[in-house]
Amino acid sequence: MDLAALNQQAVQALQSGDLAKADSLIGQLLTARPGHPLVNYLLGALRVQQGRSAEALEPLEAAHRAKPDNVSVLLHMGNALQTLKRFDEAVMKYDLALKLKPDFKTIADFRRDNAGAIKQACRQFTMLCKEMGLFGGRLVGIDGSKYRAVNSKKRNFTEEKLNGLIKYVDKKVDEYLQTMDEMDSEEIDERKPTKEELTEKIEELRRRKQDYEAKKKVLEETGETQMSLTDPDSRLMKTKDGKNVCYNLQMAVDSKHKLIIAHEVINECNDQQQLLNMARRAKEVLGVEQIEVVADKGYWNGEQVGECDKEGITVYIPEKRTSSKEGTFSKDDFVYRANKDVYECPAKQELQYWYTHNRNGRDVRVYKGVACEGCEIRSKCTTSSTSRLVRRWPGEDALEKMGQRVRGDPDKMKLRGQLVEHPSGTLKRWWGYEQFLTKGLKKVAAESDLMILAYNIRRVINIEGTKKMIDALA
Ligand code: SF4
Repeated sequence: MDLAALNQQAVQALQSGDLAKADSLIGQLLTARPGHPLVNYLLGALRVQQGRSAEALEPLEAAHRAKPDNVSVLLHMGNALQTLKRFDEAVMKYDLALKLKPDFKTIADFRRDNAGAIKQACRQFTMLCKEMGLFGGRLVGIDGSKYRAVNSKKRNFTEEKLNGLIKYVDKKVDEYLQTMDEMDSEEIDERKPTKEELTEKIEELRRRKQDYEAKKKVLEETGETQMSLTDPDSRLMKTKDGKNVCYNLQMAVDSKHKLIIAHEVINECNDQQQLLNMARRAKEVLGVEQIEVVADKGYWNGEQVGECDKEGITVYIPEKRTSSKEGTFSKDDFVYRANKDVYECPAKQELQYWYTHNRNGRDVRVYKGVACEGCEIRSKCTTSSTSRLVRRWPGEDALEKMGQRVRGDPDKMKLRGQLVEHPSGTLKRWWGYEQFLTKGLKKVAAESDLMILAYNIRRVINIEGTKKMIDALA
């Protein structure tokens, strides 16, 4: 029996909440390694999760005696004692855990071994905030923030970057070959590299080219647009400081006390598909029928705004102007008349529905001007030899309705900045948390859970004070 694999499976079963499987695996470990500190710890952790806290204490005590500086063991003991309402003893265990100064390996192991429990703790604390009446439950700000990953830009490759590198290698090889040709007709100069040295350089460049081409092939085969070598889940993203290899932390923040209601780490480079998911999560936590959501232009997505409308989520996103050549009419200069299903142009003429075409799986309706021939302001409108066309994308109804809402309530957009800036500013500028320390989406998610939990705890202490918070926890 491979005990390391068995141990790993037991940890995974505990993290995923599959307690029946964890029970069976830990039973096998107990038979194979009775009294081993790790097995005692796993057994204690299992009993806590099973709600059998009284039975958890003995194996956890044994694990603690064997490894007194193990933070996870102390925290599980604290949790068990808290469940048994032995609060003073629980506080002592937590206190002891806080006094330990674990090294980076212990911290990394703690996050890895307790990812599921950390997630639960974060969720339970959010629900506690709700029970304490700390959520307003009406207005939520949604925002995405980029945090650097453990992956340098040098170790991230896009197809464009690989093409550039291959081009550079080809150019250098050509230069070296040309130099070698010229050397045949020149006198030997000791300051210049010899033919042998140049041959070596060319060989090295060719090896690099092979490597770049192999990477390009992987991208083609997987359909991915980029690859990161140190942390394969991380992605090159646009940030305020230029491009960096990052994760994207999505947050939904309640307006009453700027507490974080929901969050999720993703490796999508932009926020365009995240509105519905985050708004739904926030609404579910708040347990209300209707909410208002404010977000920035990155979330501009007509179909998702329309879905939100249907689910009692009223969205406010600042209007996105469509671009046009200077001095010519943009789409914003055309008004859609829903009752007739036509657009009205700046010359007060109609553009009527012409046909529908499919672009990237989306049905786009095309409208065509009926009076463009002979129009006096045509030069400001179109260069087409026939008529001006306007395209209507799915979800534009919802965007137009949202545009009216935003124009009718400009203060709401000002609130957006204050709302989402608070947690982002606290985490990044006050606490200096700009980069995740773990690798892989799953571990990074656990790290973000801890970060959000710490933010919310700190916020509740600021709002209600420590005693009131501890009383609520009890
Ligand atoms: S060119 Fe056609 S669509 Fe444009 S302003 Fe004139 S009539 Fe209207």
